Amino acid sequence: MRKYLVGGNWKCNGNMAFAKSFPAEVLNNLKFNPSKVDVVVAPTALHIPTVQGVVGNNVQVATQNLSLTGDGAYTGELSTHMITDMGIKWTLTGHSERRTLFGESDADVAKKTKIALDAGMGVLACIGELKEEREGGITKQVNERQLNAIREQCDDWSNIVIAYEPVWAIGTGLTATPEIAQETHAEIREWLGKNVSKEAAASVRILYGGSVSDANAADLIQKEDIDAFLVGGASL
Ligand code: PEP
Repeated sequence: MRKYLVGGNWKCNGNMAFAKSFPAEVLNNLKFNPSKVDVVVAPTALHIPTVQGVVGNNVQVATQNLSLTGDGAYTGELSTHMITDMGIKWTLTGHSERRTLFGESDADVAKKTKIALDAGMGVLACIGELKEEREGGITKQVNERQLNAIREQCDDWSNIVIAYEPVWAIGTGLTATPEIAQETHAEIREWLGKNVSKEAAASVRILYGGSVSDANAADLIQKEDIDAFLVGGASL
């Protein structure tokens, strides 16, 4: 049985007051069994120390991104050395906003995933197709292209969680139906079995993301290959 993981991606939102009050008033009052569900929130890097100072042990903190560089003359960057030194054990990689708005290639995402794994971090590696790719019937190829890039860099998938986030569903209010999401999750699991290992296919968690909210989560979680969610807007 795979442990559920629910991630909250705050994107570029929030301020100091929110970073204090939201963990205190909402996250610390969540009712869940931490042996059955990992809960991970990804505030902006600036707000992470504030969140860490307030949030209880049952909620873990992630960065939304990390640098391809180490420490040094890399203005504006955020090395895994600094991230792990802050006690942060998780990061997102490959969020579609990083890919589409900031030009991250499949290879960049794969390298970042490898750098994070090498630093001992868990990675929520995001993949997913654009609207025109789904409409063009190439969803499977797109996801496999993104997964293959990660596979080229990473042998050990035990600390990778895949977040399948169809880009057309992110922040749009359009959610994949449970059937559509399950079909793609099953394809991803099959890809894991063929390209990583049988163990990885059985144990790697595959989250669904894309306009998940209290209105659709209960139906989506019924599906056997959906191991919970990466949530943007509704996590705030
Ligand atoms: C996300 O940012 O990863 C996401 C899925 O956003 P939303 O839930 O707002 O669609």
